[in-house]
Amino acid sequence: MADKRDYYEVLGVEKNASETEIKKAYRKLAMKYHPDQNPGDKDAEEKFKEINEAYEVLSDADKKARYDQFGFAGVDPNFGAGGAGGYGGSGFSGFDGFDLGSIFGDFFGGGSASSGSRRNGPTRGQNLGLELEITFEEAAFGCEKEVSFGRIEPCNTCGGSGCRSGSQPETCSRCGGRGTIRTQQNFMGMAMQSESPCPNCGGKGKIIKDPCNVCKGKGKVRRNKTMKVQVPAGIDDGQSFRLRGEGNCGSNGGPSGDVLVTVSVKKHPLFERDGANVLCEMPITFTQAALGAEIEVPTLDGKVRYSIPEGTQTGTTFRLKGKGIPYVGYKNRGDQYVTVVVETPTKLNREQKELLKKLADTVGDDGQPKRKSFFDKLKDQF
Ligand SMILES: [Zn+2]
Ligand SMILES: [Zn+2]
Repeated sequence: MADKRDYYEVLGVEKNASETEIKKAYRKLAMKYHPDQNPGDKDAEEKFKEINEAYEVLSDADKKARYDQFGFAGVDPNFGAGGAGGYGGSGFSGFDGFDLGSIFGDFFGGGSASSGSRRNGPTRGQNLGLELEITFEEAAFGCEKEVSFGRIEPCNTCGGSGCRSGSQPETCSRCGGRGTIRTQQNFMGMAMQSESPCPNCGGKGKIIKDPCNVCKGKGKVRRNKTMKVQVPAGIDDGQSFRLRGEGNCGSNGGPSGDVLVTVSVKKHPLFERDGANVLCEMPITFTQAALGAEIEVPTLDGKVRYSIPEGTQTGTTFRLKGKGIPYVGYKNRGDQYVTVVVETPTKLNREQKELLKKLADTVGDDGQPKRKSFFDKLKDQF
């Protein structure tokens, strides 16, 4: 004990240093000599212990006063009694005023302490997911829909306090309202602090003696919410949109979560969708294909007239510009692609068959270039 350095000297502060100056000096030194910064360095480890011991006393008004008056004898007699093995387990028994976690948390922007102290701090409510079935047209042009879902809301009866009316929550005496308690372990002769949820209040920092009979003290209830939502134009099957702040309510003043609405688009009898484009197949007759025709094509905007040229082949695709689906958030739209399929006539009577045969006799290979080309190639092969 004789060669122990004066605590003020250890922290490098004056005897009349303020609480802030002491804390500042401690942080600086603790950062410098922290074992994580100096792995395997015995001197740094010793310094770190010395700094912590000094700070443990000087940061506590009561101990500081006794130390100022009586020196080492005035503070916990266990200090320094650990001998070669470092501090005995009991040496840091009065460590309550010391929060290594919060000190380093300030340095490292979060870190170990904030996770603990956040337990009873503002927490954002959970996001919720919802599925909504809409038609092809509703997806294309957007729509207003009514949705219903269950969510956690603040209890109206107790105003979210969780207490029966007229009563108040009490601050937990075990953790002083922090929601966490510090536990200390000796690791290789060093005092290591860790925080864990307070078992007395379950981490809430408050104790409700007379709970609200509606929410049973939770301050929150599950309720059904029905609301109108705007489905954005252009949304596609499997895509989602967000209802901001409509999810579960937050805790301790934290914001509510969101609702993510995922749409499921019903199949359309005529149209298919490829991004912002609408695809459809349209049967035409053999005669329309051969002679050309003005056909009526269904679109999302109703029927439009389209002239197919003479000699149109089956499988030909036409584009109707701007007749597709709006891009989400934009006015402009995709296109519609119409693929014509020539339907071969069936159930012909004798007279009709005769007419077709006559027609066939008069149509030479010149009028059917694909057929001519095919049979030319076939001849070459065999
Ligand atoms: Zn309540
Ligand atoms: Zn507590």
